[in-house]
Amino acid sequence: MVNYKDLGLVNTREMFKRAVAGGYAIPAFNFNTMEQMQAIVQAAVETKSPVIMQVSKGARNYANASILRYMAEGAVAYAKELGCEHPEIVLHLDHGDSFELCKDCIDMGFSSVMIDGSHLPYEENIALAKKVVDYAHQFDVTVEAELGVLAGVEDEVSAAESHYTKPEEVIDFATRTGCDSLAISIGTSHGAHKFTPEQCTLVNGVLVPPPLAFDILAEIEKKLPGFPIVLHGSSSVPMDEVNTINQYGGKLDAAIGIPEDQLRKASKSAVCKINIDSDSRLAMTAAIRKHLAEHPGDFDPRQYLKPARENMKKMYIHKIVNVLGSDGKLAIQ
Ligand SMILES: [Zn+2]
Repeated sequence: MVNYKDLGLVNTREMFKRAVAGGYAIPAFNFNTMEQMQAIVQAAVETKSPVIMQVSKGARNYANASILRYMAEGAVAYAKELGCEHPEIVLHLDHGDSFELCKDCIDMGFSSVMIDGSHLPYEENIALAKKVVDYAHQFDVTVEAELGVLAGVEDEVSAAESHYTKPEEVIDFATRTGCDSLAISIGTSHGAHKFTPEQCTLVNGVLVPPPLAFDILAEIEKKLPGFPIVLHGSSSVPMDEVNTINQYGGKLDAAIGIPEDQLRKASKSAVCKINIDSDSRLAMTAAIRKHLAEHPGDFDPRQYLKPARENMKKMYIHKIVNVLGSDGKLAIQ
């Protein structure tokens, strides 16, 4: 049993309170590899931003749970080495699907967990979330729960269609579960193919997806004033990365994400955590494809992972500064 506080990690409570009050959002970046972790920490340190490093069940299967946990501990040490004396790094479980998985993560040093019972009937979702909250709060670990279903595929989470969160349920859900933040469904979705071209409108040759349901978000905010809201599936799927991938031998058809102006608008509301995973995958893959195409003789992974890491770092910094607005928001600079 390890407590996250002994690893130098923090939970989400204080940073969310400041983010809601300050009208910005904390970035939640998924990671599976050392290069992603380094790029996230470098970006957070350079911009003086709090950051949530999140691990999905799929990431635990890919990289091994213990290795990821030690990487998060390493991230704190690395941030300090880079000159950030008081980093605010959260190690968060993304889409925990059982009490056992959440407990396992809490016991091994996670500072925050998500319990995703959104696919369950309402009362079962509440019972499961409450069970996780009761356990987590004993160790001051914060819990994110979800109401409403997002479409798309993310690791082992998938749903054919989305169901928007019902604002009339949020007070009852938040009160009875005791959760610290709530993931809602207002039109974002998982993966790099969030919308079909048929769902979009063609504006100046660019496919523009339907806007997020800001009316539902506003109703939720009215019911739960100041309560931390989370947006999943919020990659923007930048066209330049998709084009680079396709130019150098890839084949990504009709990849469409959430426009950044929509996320900027959401960040100014009670939305205080925005999850970004696909954009990091795209940035990494684009850089690796380009490098290998231009340097066919290279075979040392460091030769192509270095530009991949640089490209991810550039993307993370862009999100922090230009989209979420969490730069310069560390409690102690
Ligand atoms: Zn998600």
